[in-house]
Amino acid sequence: MVAIDGPAGAGKSTVARAVAERLGFVLVDTGSLYRAVALCALRRGVDLGDREAVEAVAVEAVGDGSLRLAADGSGATRVLVDGEDPGEALRTPELSLGASTVSAYPGVRAALLDAQRAFGRDGAVVLEGRDIGTVVFPDAEVKVYLTASAEVRAQRRYDELRARGVAVELAATLEEVLARDARDMNRAIAPLREAPDAHRVDASHLAPEAVIDAIVRLVRPPG
Ligand code: C5P
Repeated sequence: MVAIDGPAGAGKSTVARAVAERLGFVLVDTGSLYRAVALCALRRGVDLGDREAVEAVAVEAVGDGSLRLAADGSGATRVLVDGEDPGEALRTPELSLGASTVSAYPGVRAALLDAQRAFGRDGAVVLEGRDIGTVVFPDAEVKVYLTASAEVRAQRRYDELRARGVAVELAATLEEVLARDARDMNRAIAPLREAPDAHRVDASHLAPEAVIDAIVRLVRPPG
């Protein structure tokens, strides 16, 4: 089992996807679960600031299967909301911030824990998130804390959003990155932090290929 944690925009998704492909492992993007809770709540007319109402949505949606993780047959997993893959609708700046808000609610984290554990149980899996190596799978064999400077992360997020045609400003993207960092690192439950036994990789000045190679070598040492 490979746990890849780290702040927003460090390149976790790209790296985790490539590592899973190279190893032939299943990939679970756990951030999409928190995004899906925010989407579910908004669709049901719930204010994301209303902790109890959002927690109730999470428990109900996971319980009745309207929010679930499904293998997509190509080695990745997709989160399905109301039976459908929301695709790009999960990746808007609004839902990035919304996911960060709802992920601070204990009832939301508890509701999503079993779903994540059920997928990781059989091993041969790469899980990507914030608390995989610290909370979800503290016994993961390989833990990576992937980080990069806030400026580099904001620039990447900006390029990504622009490439998808989303109109954003770099300064606003940096602010969003910093706001999410603060929220993810300072929340009371499962805050983003580096596991003591994690391999820290600073990707500020590394090409994705170098990061991917380094992680693959941790799992399958050469020779
Ligand atoms: O990784 P992604 O940007 O999709 O995550 C969205 C938000 O979900 C993060 O900002 C974080 O607040 C939350 N999250 C979390 N725990 C995880 C994965 C994501 O709290 N394991």
